[in-house]
Amino acid sequence: MLSVDRADFAPSNPYSDSPIGIGHGATISAPHMHATALHYLEDVIKNDSHILDVGSGSGYLTMCFAKMIGPNGKVVGIEHIPELVELSIKNIKKSDASLLENGVIKIVEGDGREGYPKEAPYDAIHVGAAAPELPSQLIDQLAVGGRMVIPVGTNYQEFLQIDKTAPDKVEKKTLMGVMYVPLTSRDQQTGIRTRDFL
Ligand code: SAH
Repeated sequence: MLSVDRADFAPSNPYSDSPIGIGHGATISAPHMHATALHYLEDVIKNDSHILDVGSGSGYLTMCFAKMIGPNGKVVGIEHIPELVELSIKNIKKSDASLLENGVIKIVEGDGREGYPKEAPYDAIHVGAAAPELPSQLIDQLAVGGRMVIPVGTNYQEFLQIDKTAPDKVEKKTLMGVMYVPLTSRDQQTGIRTRDFL
């Protein structure tokens, strides 16, 4: 985290330990939550790991993951708001454009609840928004020996660690209570619902 300057990713107060709005109903998470996520995933991250960052928002954590792997590793950031996809690419370019150029970082627009099968299986999956329940497609895309950290819940959310110990077996551990923005559809997040047009 010390090697990635948050000033390239946060629109204001980059060094305060709090989430900061980045527009479109999203925030750059607080540094202590970024640190917590990296802490729980670091043991499964190797030089050539494939990592999926769901809800990559500002791109800050995606960048931190890229610093933990080598040129043969890959981190995919998946984000469903096109403006945030653009923003994160801009931020990453300010921070270290070479990681986009050499393909260590790939930012894609899409529904993170479905994961990104093209680069699966993943040694580590980070989910940066709270899912109402565990998304099965993300578990499917986890490598055996891989780990996912994910906030799960609606009003009350828990930060869970999911370890895939065999092709059809996962171990679940509750790490702590947390507060994240929801992992949801684009329309729900931006407040535009179909009925508004009826
Ligand atoms: N980890 C990022 C962003 C955290 S906010 C950071 O620290 O900068 C959560 C992000 O998840 C938001 O950017 C939001 O747009 C995104 N998100 C919510 N639901 C999503 C979905 N279904 N697919 C992809 N991204 C989603």
